[in-house]
Amino acid sequence: MIKFLDMNPMHDKIKKEILKSIEKVYDSNWYILGEEVEKFEEEFAKYCSTKYCIGVGNGLDALHLILRGYNIGKGDEVIIPANTYIATALAVSYAGATPILVEVNEKTYNIDYSLIEKAITNKTKAIIVVHLYGQPCDMDNINKIAKKYNLKVIEDNAQAQGALYKGKKTGSLSDAAGISFYPGKNLGALGDAGCITTNDKILADKVRSLRNYGSSKKYYNDYKGFNSRLDEIQAGILRVKLKYLDEWNQERKDIAKIYMENIDSEIILPYVLEDTSPVWHQFVIRSQKRDELQEYLKQNGIDTMIHYPVPIFKQKAYSEMKFLEKDFNITSDICDTILSLPIYPYIDKEDIKYICNVINKFKY
Ligand SMILES: *Cc1c(COP(=O)(O)O)cnc(C)c1O
Repeated sequence: MIKFLDMNPMHDKIKKEILKSIEKVYDSNWYILGEEVEKFEEEFAKYCSTKYCIGVGNGLDALHLILRGYNIGKGDEVIIPANTYIATALAVSYAGATPILVEVNEKTYNIDYSLIEKAITNKTKAIIVVHLYGQPCDMDNINKIAKKYNLKVIEDNAQAQGALYKGKKTGSLSDAAGISFYPGKNLGALGDAGCITTNDKILADKVRSLRNYGSSKKYYNDYKGFNSRLDEIQAGILRVKLKYLDEWNQERKDIAKIYMENIDSEIILPYVLEDTSPVWHQFVIRSQKRDELQEYLKQNGIDTMIHYPVPIFKQKAYSEMKFLEKDFNITSDICDTILSLPIYPYIDKEDIKYICNVINKFKY
């Protein structure tokens, strides 16, 4: 069986280094907001070319704290793409604001900038864009609209660490970005972790306080804050893994290239926006016979997944919001036809060629 995701080839290579970093924290007797978090924040900010990085507990909290940091809450609306992981919407709900879904582009699967303006009301405060599957959004067009209406732009950069848009890293293309280091992400911790990247000093100071009980000086609290700190052990692990991120992303690019060049059936392949360099968090194809194709691949020893099978507007959690299905025909169709193929660093390239051959023999 070709597994959908196998972290062993990545982890075997760095096991000694990781265990050493854990031991270092163990021996330090300092387990919360210590040297490892501080150093990782410096190193990741440098990697993204942003002035600040603030480590937090996870990706959902990162987005939530950015919204809090910008005083976005009750009565406010935040625009998000209809096709994303539920966390993007939950961050808005956590802050007390209302997520407003905007349909995605049929080719990129990311938010369709040409539909954003129609969704803006006098309550709109921000747009959260998601670089889904590691594919950068059309940032120039999105930032232009935001500027016109004086809205904040926030990147959900959970799936695109290291991706480039016009030569610049995702996470540095907006007012602030929320990043997840969930283990399966391109840069993943060995547990929950996340961070915020930004060039906005006022926001950076505020979220640094909000993540730690709303306090910047111990026992003095400026805000009713939260407890969402990047764990010291996870920060040490992330410092080791960050050194390998570019190599691992290159592996993903090499695999994507094999898929792109060798799948020749009636499958819709991913579309890459001009002047971007995606990092292929997922390699997502589309087929009108998706369920049959998935079953057929399974019978041929190939594990696949669907990211994501149920769009937000069909989720029970958001049933109180009256969405019109006809507004999200593209998202609905995407959810019914997408299939994610195995893609991870050091997967046997012969396995990828085998997967292509099997797909090409699928009978329509
Ligand atoms: C993983 C993910 C998140 C949430 O990250 P957690 O660390 O699990 O909270 C948010 N948005 C997207 C698009 C994600 O893929």
